[in-house]
Amino acid sequence: MRIRNFPWRNKFSILFTRNIPWCYWQSKAMKLSKLTAMDAGNCFQLHASLVFIAIITFTSNVQRPLEIPNYPLHPEHSNQGFFLRQRPHYDNDLVYGCVLCKEKRNMFFYECRACYFSIDIKCAYLSSSYKFNQPSKHDIHQHPLTFIESPTTIDVPKRFNCSWCHEPLIDAIYICDPDCPFIIHKKCLDELPTKIDHLTHRLHPLILNRSDSDYLCNLCQKQHFGPFYGCSLCHFNINVECAWPRSIVEDKSSHQHPFSLLWRQGSFICDACDTEGNYISYICLKCCIEVHKKCTSLPRIIKFSRHDHCIFHKHFLQTRELTRQDCKICFNEVKLDRGSYSCGKPGCNYVVHVNCVLENEKLYEVIEDEKQYEEFYEKSIQSSIIRVIEVNEVGEATKIQHFTHQYYLGLADKMEEIDRKCDGCMLSISTLFYYCSECPFFLHKTCVELPRIKQHWFRQASATLFFKDFQNCDFCDQSCSGFFYEIDEWWDMSIRCDKVVDIIECEGHQHFLFYDFNYEKECNGCGVENNNGAFRCGECRFALDFGCLTFPHSTLHKIDEHMLNLTYHDDKEQSYCDICERERDPRL
Ligand SMILES: [Zn+2]
Ligand SMILES: [Zn+2]
Ligand SMILES: [Zn+2]
Ligand SMILES: [Zn+2]
Ligand SMILES: [Zn+2]
Ligand SMILES: [Zn+2]
Ligand SMILES: [Zn+2]
Ligand SMILES: [Zn+2]
Repeated sequence: MRIRNFPWRNKFSILFTRNIPWCYWQSKAMKLSKLTAMDAGNCFQLHASLVFIAIITFTSNVQRPLEIPNYPLHPEHSNQGFFLRQRPHYDNDLVYGCVLCKEKRNMFFYECRACYFSIDIKCAYLSSSYKFNQPSKHDIHQHPLTFIESPTTIDVPKRFNCSWCHEPLIDAIYICDPDCPFIIHKKCLDELPTKIDHLTHRLHPLILNRSDSDYLCNLCQKQHFGPFYGCSLCHFNINVECAWPRSIVEDKSSHQHPFSLLWRQGSFICDACDTEGNYISYICLKCCIEVHKKCTSLPRIIKFSRHDHCIFHKHFLQTRELTRQDCKICFNEVKLDRGSYSCGKPGCNYVVHVNCVLENEKLYEVIEDEKQYEEFYEKSIQSSIIRVIEVNEVGEATKIQHFTHQYYLGLADKMEEIDRKCDGCMLSISTLFYYCSECPFFLHKTCVELPRIKQHWFRQASATLFFKDFQNCDFCDQSCSGFFYEIDEWWDMSIRCDKVVDIIECEGHQHFLFYDFNYEKECNGCGVENNNGAFRCGECRFALDFGCLTFPHSTLHKIDEHMLNLTYHDDKEQSYCDICERERDPRL
């Protein structure tokens, strides 16, 4: 079906189609399941029900010119012109915010034809008469700044304050790119002091200076260039933007009380993450804790991909026992009187270091409401891949239709044939399985019950089940057929690898192994270096990659009538392979 008169760039009509994955409306990516409208030329998709809202929005926008010749804020490409577009870019994952209000969610904006400069239609309209190029007296920031006379009229969001004095943005300001949070009052920048007394360096005053090469800021311990306050006698430097952090930080979503700035002359141990900090600390007098600036806003609840339940940040953990608790990521001790993330479910005993669990943002998500998350997750994993045709007295599905197979499958509990493999996971079948009576097709009952959508420990983003006749697994690097999970819309994982948990006992090694995402050295099974991590031993130098780990632990080989057992250690000085008679590396 086609909708006519859809004023989208006056060029395309809208086609209705099914099973297109995403809805582009207000940039909110929602899975599309029902009827979908799509504009093939733009790869622009909507739920059918949203099309009419879209029409209204578009109609109100058609009065706006589709193109504007130049814009005072972007003189570099004024010969190229700016054209009306919608978010998100269908060919680009990056979303560029408006240069003025920094908002990324408004749908329509003008974009430069030569670069990604973009400005919302509303901001472009309101600010078209402004003078922007008012040069600033001091050049303190690494990016070029834009002058704005009256920020309140163009909707510079209320959530921003001046980076220098932390007061609201009412008077004239300078702002930076949408992706840089730097904003400063014109007044603050013009009146920047040339000499300051700073509580982290009480012996000498600090003088405003500038450096065109990198210098270390003693407060944030990062490299900066440009202006700084420094003491040349002691080589003590503070980046101008780091000199005055907020004196009070209040973020109720992460801590119930406000934190106050406490200048230190030396180092301290942070009560929230148990690592060292310097000079700038924040204290909560109610809880008697002292934390890093970044640790004033730690998420209270997160869902970490490697644990099934939500975990909570606590500044200390009370226990009745004397036992030591190890972090389930790095397997070093967690000090229970300092901050950590832990699971509150009875019997779970899951504790991790703050910095270990927050290290990779692809492995966790911030949770606002634990109950709501659990309900949502329960629902999503109930997405079954079968249609039940017949059930027996105890409610077991005895006849099913499976999405991989054209005929119905029946349930059986005893396999007559020797070494019959499951077509889903390629492992042998002995009990409880489904079979096809028309052709040789078998599936384990457990493989039939795999959820269509789930969350795998390798990523917090969801994993989707699919069936492929021939596909390379990104984890063990073996090609096989059967079920795969596509993790985070990128990684294809065979079911054999999917069954491997992140902490394992391994035949052939006396200690348990855990998955280390940062492991980059060679695998003791195959000698290949791996940059996606590997299963590592915490006690000794031993690691195995997915490929070597999912290798069958014993294998029948035609030379020897007995089973050969896979081993990773060899006592003999020199070893030869009995099949090819060449020397083997004894470490493998
Ligand atoms: Zn900037
Ligand atoms: Zn000094
Ligand atoms: Zn900390
Ligand atoms: Zn740790
Ligand atoms: Zn738990
Ligand atoms: Zn199977
Ligand atoms: Zn290997
Ligand atoms: Zn070991």
